[in-house]
Amino acid sequence: MPFSEPAVVTNGGILPTAQGLNVVVVGAGIGGLTAAIYLRYQGHTVTVLEQSRFANELGAALHLAPNSNGLLRRIGIFAERVGANLMESVTEYNAANELLRDVELTEPNKLWQHPWHLVHRVHLHEELKRRATSPSGDGLPVVLKTCSHVVDVDPATATAILENGERVQGDVLVGADGVHSKTRTKVPGGDIPNKSSGKSAFRFLIPRQAALDDPLTAQYAKRDGQLIIWYGQDRRVIMYPCDANRQLNFVCIHPLEESDVDGASGWSAETTKNALLEVYKNFDPSLLALLDKADVKSLKAWELLDRDVLATWVNDRLALLGDAAHPFLPHQGQGAGCAMEDAAALAVVLQNGTKAEDVPERLRLYEKIRMERAHRVQEYSRLAGRDLGDEKLDMMEYTNYNFGHDEWDNSM
Ligand code: FAD
Repeated sequence: MPFSEPAVVTNGGILPTAQGLNVVVVGAGIGGLTAAIYLRYQGHTVTVLEQSRFANELGAALHLAPNSNGLLRRIGIFAERVGANLMESVTEYNAANELLRDVELTEPNKLWQHPWHLVHRVHLHEELKRRATSPSGDGLPVVLKTCSHVVDVDPATATAILENGERVQGDVLVGADGVHSKTRTKVPGGDIPNKSSGKSAFRFLIPRQAALDDPLTAQYAKRDGQLIIWYGQDRRVIMYPCDANRQLNFVCIHPLEESDVDGASGWSAETTKNALLEVYKNFDPSLLALLDKADVKSLKAWELLDRDVLATWVNDRLALLGDAAHPFLPHQGQGAGCAMEDAAALAVVLQNGTKAEDVPERLRLYEKIRMERAHRVQEYSRLAGRDLGDEKLDMMEYTNYNFGHDEWDNSM
C-alpha cells in the first residue's frame, strides 16, 4: 500500500459542556452518520433519527475516491480494514467487446494523497454506525434511534416530529434523509419534485470465483481492482470488485422505459434475470455469460433520479446535506463522497464553542462553502452519463476536480 496513514484526528478530550450544542440529525445513511461523528468530535450532543431498522440491508458497492476517503481516515475509518479494495485499473470496451482503452491506475493512485477504494455499502455503513455509537473518549457516543420515522420538522425551533407524535428538539437540525427527503420541503423553494433522468439501472453482485471458473468470462475477473465499462449507444454496463476483491459489483444503466421501475421504489425494486438479459441482449456473448451469473438475491432495479438545483439548503436552524440537498446520478461515483464532504464542512462551521444563537448564521456559511462544489460535481455526474453515440467518453475527464480537494486535509 503506497499510502501513509494520516494522523487520526481526536477532539483533544473535548466533552459536551454547557456550550456544546444539541444536534438532531434526520437519517442515518452515509451522510447522516458521518455528520454525527464529526459533530460529536466537536463536543456536541448528537441524536440521529432513522426510519428503518437496517434489517435486510442490501445495497451494493460504492466508490471511496481520495476526497472522501481522506475524510474517513481522519476519523479513524480505514476502508481497507472493512473489506475495501484498491481501484487499480480502468478498461473500456464497446458493446461488441472491442477494446477502447486500458489504463493502469497504480501510478496515478500514488499521486493522490489518499487511496481510491471500492467498498461494499453495507460494510461502510456498519463501520460508521459502530464508530458513531461507541464510547471512545472523543465526545459522547451518538444516540441512534431506529424505527423513528420523521413526519415533519420545524426549522425555527430545530424540532423533528416523529410518526408517533414524539417531538425531538435541539439547537440544530440536520436533514440527511436522502433523495426522497421530507426535511428539504422546509427550506424555501425546497418542495420542487425529483425528476426522472430517463434512465434506470440494474444492480447486483456476482462472486468473483464464478466468473473465474468459466473460460468465457475468466478474462474479466483476473485482475484485482479492475473497473470495466462496456459502452453501447444508449446503455452501458459497469463492473468493479468490492469485498476485498471477492465479489464483482455491477451497475447496468439503460433507458427507463426498458425496465419496469419508478422512482418511488427506491434503491431496491424487484426485477428478474430475464429482464436484465433482454435489455443487454445485443452485447457481446461473453458479457451476457457474465450477466447470467447475477446473484438473484442481490439483483435489484432502480430509477436514476435527478433534481433541479435548490435555491438554498438552509432555513433558520435546519441544514440539508447529501442527497437531500443534491441527489447525484451515479456516473462519477461521488454521491456518498459529497455527502461526507458536506458532513465534515458542517462540523467545521459548528466548531466547539458555537453559541446556539449563532447557529443560523453558521449554517448560511456552511451553504456558502459547499454549494458551488457540490453542484459542480452534480453537473459532472450528469455529463459523464450522457448517451455517447459515436463519441468517446473519457471517464477520467472530471476526476482531477472531483478528487483534488486536498485542502480539506489541511483545514481539519
Ligand atoms: P442515504 O444514504 O440515502 O441515507 C438517507 C437515510 O435517511 C436512509 O437511511 C433513510 O432510511 C433515512 N430516512 C429517509 N427519510 C427519513 C425520515 N422521514 N425519517 C427518518 N429517516 C429517514 N448508492 C449507490 O451508488 N449504490 C448502491 O448500491 C446504493 N445502495 C443504497 C441502499 C440503501 C438502502 C440506501 C438508503 C442508499 C443506497 N445508495 C446507493 C445511495 C447512497 O448511499 C447515497 O446516494 C449516498 O451515500 C448519499 O447518502 P445520504 O446520506 O445523503 O443518503
